[in-house]
Amino acid sequence: WWKKRNDEYDARNALRNEPMVVLDGKETSAKIRQELALKVKELKAQGRKVPHLAAILVGEDGASRTYVNAKVRDCEEVGFGSTLIKLPAETTEAELLKAIGKLNHDEDIDGYIVQLPLPKHIDETKILLAVDPRKDVDGFHPQNVGKMTLNLPTYIPATPQGIVELLRRYEVPTEGKNCVVIGRSNIVGSPMSILLSQHNYPGNCTVTLCHSRTRDLEEICRNADIIVAALGRPGFVTADMVKEGACVIDVGITRIDDSSKKSGFRLLGDVDFDAVAPKCSFITPVPGGVGPMTRAALMMNTMKVTELED
Ligand code: NAD
Repeated sequence: WWKKRNDEYDARNALRNEPMVVLDGKETSAKIRQELALKVKELKAQGRKVPHLAAILVGEDGASRTYVNAKVRDCEEVGFGSTLIKLPAETTEAELLKAIGKLNHDEDIDGYIVQLPLPKHIDETKILLAVDPRKDVDGFHPQNVGKMTLNLPTYIPATPQGIVELLRRYEVPTEGKNCVVIGRSNIVGSPMSILLSQHNYPGNCTVTLCHSRTRDLEEICRNADIIVAALGRPGFVTADMVKEGACVIDVGITRIDDSSKKSGFRLLGDVDFDAVAPKCSFITPVPGGVGPMTRAALMMNTMKVTELED
């Protein structure tokens, strides 16, 4: 249905003479999974080990459970091995560290993730530091963050990597562009700003990293060729903040109760899509944009296990 939406916006944009393109994360991620499935077949044909991804889920958080289940499904589709370790919400930090130690030493497990957020009584940093950097497919360990910053081969956090992959596949121009990233979290905003300023494509942007203490954010956004909104405030980016022809990447996912939906909720992005899209050259929808690309990027990272080992 994005195709239909694309056509509608193209029609509206005919006056601008520059069609707007919806960056379709759903379609692109399906293509990536197909490509990875082919690579798995090749690995098998060569008699090599197929990557095996494990995930640790602590507690019963609904969104986390959905995300982890989706990751396991993706592994199955691609042909990776997968193991889901579910631990109760009252798991102690010591118990979780023990489970991590086991995965670090398990030769069958090539990579694993600890689904965030963790229950409040567990120190997230302590946990991330305990993950063997060679198995850290989320790319959160300081050693991997350091390598990413130096543009060395490593695991890159899934959301920024998924965005970069989307930009690459749609050949979105980035060189010399003004890019504004809103949000400076360790998992999205901060790595995104690093990747887009790197000396390669997609990169070579002039990046401004904005956050809750930024002054004149609207004005800064109006000067942006590319906006990456990753703050978690539905509809934050409005049409008056966006320059004509900009590329807008909406990372935000906020669950809003909606009894008309089978799931009981709907997802809202950080961008006022309907008002902003007609001004854009490229835009990601929510859902169907960055979310599926994040999942695909985790699968790409898991496949990287075979390359980084070589
Ligand atoms: P976070 O809460 O860790 O960070 C939010 C950032 O936004 C902070 O750096 C804060 O300074 C900034 N911020 C908050 N209010 C602001 C304001 N008014 N103006 C400017 N900056 C402001 O969030 P996160 O983990 O980076 O996630 C951000 C959003 O992206 C959330 O909605 C989350 O659900 C979503 N997310 C989506 C994916 C995906 O796959 N699509 C992945 C991760 C996170």
